[in-house]
Amino acid sequence: MARAELQSTAALKGTMAAHFESLRQAVGERHAPIAWCTSVGPVEILRALGFCVFFPENHGAMLGAARKANDTMPRAHALGYSPDICSYLTSDIGAYLSRETPLAAFGFETVPRADVLVFNTNQCRDVRDWFEFYGREWHVPVLGVRSPRALEHVTDGDVDAVAWQIEAMVEPLEGIAGRRLDASALEATVRLSRECSDLWKACLESATHRPAPITFFDAAIHMGPAVVLRGAPEAPAYYKTLLAELRARVKAGVGAVEGEQFRLYWEGMPIWGKLRMFSTLLADLSTAVVVSTYCNSWIFDALDAADPIRSMARASLELFIVGSEEPKERYIREHVERFGVDGILFHDCRTCPNNSNARYGMPRRLSSALGVPALVLDGDVNDLRCFSEEQSKTSVEGFIEQLADFRPAAGGTGRR
Ligand code: SF4
Repeated sequence: MARAELQSTAALKGTMAAHFESLRQAVGERHAPIAWCTSVGPVEILRALGFCVFFPENHGAMLGAARKANDTMPRAHALGYSPDICSYLTSDIGAYLSRETPLAAFGFETVPRADVLVFNTNQCRDVRDWFEFYGREWHVPVLGVRSPRALEHVTDGDVDAVAWQIEAMVEPLEGIAGRRLDASALEATVRLSRECSDLWKACLESATHRPAPITFFDAAIHMGPAVVLRGAPEAPAYYKTLLAELRARVKAGVGAVEGEQFRLYWEGMPIWGKLRMFSTLLADLSTAVVVSTYCNSWIFDALDAADPIRSMARASLELFIVGSEEPKERYIREHVERFGVDGILFHDCRTCPNNSNARYGMPRRLSSALGVPALVLDGDVNDLRCFSEEQSKTSVEGFIEQLADFRPAAGGTGRR
């Protein structure tokens, strides 16, 4: 079965290339200060202060997708960074030490040198350790939010604690940027972030339709602007283009996977170096991965231009990764039901326990509560030594056969 390629990919490539070109110019001409920011760090403050922003997790993903990570990681391991910690971190630091970067395609010799690095530990501790390496290397400040984690509910006290830390960053950031934070600039940036989030959400929600016009494997690529351009006008501009195409597909009954028979949920990180392999394997099995925790993590419903800093704090805390098991299970259950999912794939990512939810019984609990089978795939976001292609293919093929047996409509017996 064939996968239908999205026409918007050309606009996506143009948007990402323009972003990296503007970053390259900022590096070359020093016309703007450069900040590194974690994926859900307070980017809106940075943009409103005129920083050019670089997202090293995106760089880590590029190293994984280009299958360069296993070449670069040993340099970081040799410095004492364990092979068991985040392979984004080790592949990125290793790439820096080797002066290698996939950004060479955009004219970079190495990653852009930061004037400041800003983290939020809402996702993991690794981001702080990662940024502190560069802080020591370049003798530049490292600022951050130390976030509460594993929350049952987000309380006003949690929001206060994070909002206070974001506010405390403003003064040192103003000193580095050489300008005061303008309240209207911050509001405008948060408004753009919210617009990006709403459009991105609408793109992902289009997959509630049958056949789904977009899969997880498309979305993992098309989420680029939501990651690196949140708070900039280019991101909503791109998602209007993508959404128009997805709506046209829905209207015409065109699916991302020809002859869609089965619909899956992908829980956990992508396996960047094997995205194409999984996409092809599942399309050949008439199966669309229609929803994922990962791509949904760039939806920030709480952002509100009328209350910028508190809403940024709340948005960072309401993310799936910040929750305890109970809200996470509730979230997956709701999405499985709403997207009409037949089965759940859990990626147990070796070097990211923070984004792996298969280790404390969740697959079995959800499977029995929902009557939907679950399969756990061993792998890693970047380190392909932790992944067996043959074993994964066999497991996925067996899993889809099992789904067919569950579904009378697909010729199965419907017996469990
Ligand atoms: S969440 Fe996981 S993959 Fe992302 S930076 Fe943290 S450890 Fe690495």
